[in-house]
Amino acid sequence: MHNIQTLLTDLGVPSAAYNAAYNATDNATQNGLAVHSPIDGSRLGVVHAASAEDMRAAVGHAQTAFLAWRQVPAPRRGELVRLFGAELRRHKASLARLVAIEAGKVSSEGEGEVQEMIDICDFAVGLSRQLHGLTIASERPGHRMMEQWLPLGVVGIISAFNFPVAVWAWNATLALVCGNSCVWKPSEKTPLTALATQALFERALLQFDGAPAHLSQVLNGAAPVGEAMVDDHRVALISATGSTRMGRAVGPRVAARFGRCLLELGGNNAIIVSPSADLELAVRGILFGAYGTAGQRCTTTRRVIIHTSIHAELLARLERARASLCIGNPLEMGTLIGPLIDQAAFDAMQTALEAARAQGGEVSGGGRALAQQYPGAWYAEPALVRMPAQTDVVKQETFAPILYALPYDTLEEAIALHNDVPQGLSSAIFTNDLREAEIFISAVGSDCGIANVNIGTSGAEIGGAFGGEKETGGGRESGSDAWRAYMRRATNTINYSRSLPLAQGVKFDI
Ligand code: NAD
Repeated sequence: MHNIQTLLTDLGVPSAAYNAAYNATDNATQNGLAVHSPIDGSRLGVVHAASAEDMRAAVGHAQTAFLAWRQVPAPRRGELVRLFGAELRRHKASLARLVAIEAGKVSSEGEGEVQEMIDICDFAVGLSRQLHGLTIASERPGHRMMEQWLPLGVVGIISAFNFPVAVWAWNATLALVCGNSCVWKPSEKTPLTALATQALFERALLQFDGAPAHLSQVLNGAAPVGEAMVDDHRVALISATGSTRMGRAVGPRVAARFGRCLLELGGNNAIIVSPSADLELAVRGILFGAYGTAGQRCTTTRRVIIHTSIHAELLARLERARASLCIGNPLEMGTLIGPLIDQAAFDAMQTALEAARAQGGEVSGGGRALAQQYPGAWYAEPALVRMPAQTDVVKQETFAPILYALPYDTLEEAIALHNDVPQGLSSAIFTNDLREAEIFISAVGSDCGIANVNIGTSGAEIGGAFGGEKETGGGRESGSDAWRAYMRRATNTINYSRSLPLAQGVKFDI
């Protein structure tokens, strides 16, 4: 129905990796993983599902690849990523369409996701000539002290359905220029985009001389395949993106074997709107943040904290705009809100709305949409919920388009409400008051990894470090100095004198 075969062929996915005619039941079978489109619930095909044993073998291959790749000069490693970026540029439209079909993103967001991959490739290529350490003054005469950043090992990447390819690219491009090999366990809901990305990477490899086999592998499957990677001591870093529930399972298992973990987990992001805010700007920022991607971004705006003096006016504007948002097939022009990923997501949304009502909330929207047109898919009207207080349900991340609105009187109160949730990913304030803006991003303001002024909570650029605090997991990916997570630091002291002075003046004369 979605012409998947043509897309996959264009992207170079071998037909053996994907079998549209596979005749299994709807669920994952022993070695098959059924793929559905959230657009209409149609079955896109079946991909091979790896076993835990396959994963262990893949990690072994990745370890061998690492031993060779770490010796390739970093700028040369960057050349491979440059070639991969060129493949992405060439195939942007096809990969973006596949993202839209498999994850249900509207077309411009599918394209944005692939653009993000291209951007991080460019960033990683530049970085491949900038993996720098410090030279530090030594207290001893004739000595030099310095830091080196060295390749780490096998990097295991676990990704979520809602950014099926960009998050892998954030990790893999940096990991590769840093001299590591990669093994990817994508979301079981989006295996086709993963296969397509791997195929494009392999096209880049064909144009590159000197990369070891198995430098970057993908293994589809559900959580147990990920668990096999998590428990494997040969995987130096597990970079896992997904729910806090997943992070709670993964983090301690990696810690138990003293592995390194980079966790990018759930968010519960808020925007504060102060009396001086430009309301036109605020409405647009809130709408995209709350309802874009059908509320299925880790950085989705889930709470808006509004000063009582503008509470009624802003809510009236938001309500008007909310009710007019175009819900529909994400491949069609003009659609702003696509489907939820599956029925479980829709059910979770309904459960949260019921809880909100029971906790004093007044709900607009939130019902099922387009049920007649797409009986096998799960579209939802975006919901706006006026809450009298920040109750339990507001403190949870429900991965759906629900925006809770809360009133406040003083900025201190707004910041306290803002920070009083377990998650700490993204945040924003809309204000034209310089003092309020500075307080919000200061030590006494937002406790999140991302704090914005006069822009929403979602849609980060790749140049900055991305990630959050508290139950969001503490990891940082993408820009700035996030590359350091993919390297090990060695401190070197070099003695070029003819004596052996000890540090701190210690004497040990023989
Ligand atoms: P999920 O936690 O259900 O799954 C994410 C990935 O983890 C999948 O590949 C899954 O197979 C794997 N997994 C689950 N349990 C595992 C285990 N015990 N061991 C190893 N692997 C395991 O998340 P989802 O529904 O795909 O994505 C939505 C969630 O991801 C939301 O909570 C969202 O906020 C979060 N997310 C966070 C970020 C971020 O950067 N902070 C980005 C995107 C999504």
